[in-house]
Amino acid sequence: MIVYADNAATTKIDKQVLDAMMPFLTTAYGNPGSIHQKGREAFLAVDSARSKVASAINANPSEIYFTGDGTEADNWAIKGVAHKYSKKGKHIISSSIEHHAVLHSLKALEKEGYEVTYLPVDKKGFISVSQLEEAVRPDTILITIMFANNETGVVEPIKEIGTVAKKHNVIFHTDAVQAVGHIPVDVKEMNIDLLSISAHKFNAPKGVGALYMRKGIYLPPFLDGGQQEGGRRAGTENVASIVGMGAAIETAIKEMPKRSEKVRMLRDRLWKGLTEKIPHNIVNTPEKNNLPGIFNISSKYVEGEALLLSLDLKGICASSGSACTSGSLDPSHVLLSIGLTHEVAHGSVRFSLDHNNTEEEIDYIIEVFPEIVAKLRDMSPLWEKVDK
Ligand SMILES: *Cc1c(COP(=O)(O)O)cnc(C)c1O
Repeated sequence: MIVYADNAATTKIDKQVLDAMMPFLTTAYGNPGSIHQKGREAFLAVDSARSKVASAINANPSEIYFTGDGTEADNWAIKGVAHKYSKKGKHIISSSIEHHAVLHSLKALEKEGYEVTYLPVDKKGFISVSQLEEAVRPDTILITIMFANNETGVVEPIKEIGTVAKKHNVIFHTDAVQAVGHIPVDVKEMNIDLLSISAHKFNAPKGVGALYMRKGIYLPPFLDGGQQEGGRRAGTENVASIVGMGAAIETAIKEMPKRSEKVRMLRDRLWKGLTEKIPHNIVNTPEKNNLPGIFNISSKYVEGEALLLSLDLKGICASSGSACTSGSLDPSHVLLSIGLTHEVAHGSVRFSLDHNNTEEEIDYIIEVFPEIVAKLRDMSPLWEKVDK
């Protein structure tokens, strides 16, 4: 049995998404920039996908720019605002739990002389809106705070952050890669100026994303070249993947109540099962304001990598943090930010579910995982002391 519980890393393409893409990988191969009928066919397909992405977040189609992925959308938003508004100031506000696509973009800007305030989070992973407001200065040009975290599943108070940004006339970008298609996102109601999306986190293919850019904010092109995407994102459109993204987001929005109820039910079953069966655990996912599918748990006195390998041998795919940090010995910056020690952070596992998971799979994890923890603890000299 293979149990895929790593949907925050990437998801399986839905069947109807692949079906929607197939014509554009076979017969409908035109370039959307060509004026003949093959070109028009592709252009209309990209246009229709743009409308679907826009309507999913309550934006206008003209405010959606397709990108190569979520990482590109984050880079474009952050570096674009920094470079365009550097005359107004060079101060940016972010948080300590951002994805590396955001953190490393900010690090690059710091090398150029920008100053970044990284807001801390509390033990549950939430930023403080009053602390955010205190951090705003006359030279603040951007607030970039993620919608929902990929490791713990915490959902930040986005509408309140948007209100602060608007009040102080600061541009607000949010990395909504984990949120879009999973929980309601409304750029107008939440006062969001820029928002990053990635298709492969909601059952569409990898290698395509989008940046929502509110009308009135015109960032310079991130790639120079042809006139695609209104001259702002050059390069021939990835037509099939863009079509897949449109199909997937349309389904995700339509099915959201049903899917999120199922996923939440499965996740809560996992939560209850594991916390009951594993002594000395710490749950890193907040009980309220969380993504429906993520559950992050630390088992003290064990090594996350060993846990993952043992899980893998049992056919269970999970993650010890974000895919980007595996392979490195540093514990996750997110888990350290919520106050875990290095040792405890090292014993953390993230399970992330989607609508393809079943109750049987959850029960299998509940059966197998506590046994693995117990076995590894039996081999640990630290555990021997605790056990006595
Ligand atoms: C996956 C992810 C990204 C990166 O998206 P890619 O399309 O894989 O480049 C950015 N931010 C968050 C929160 C993510 O989970």
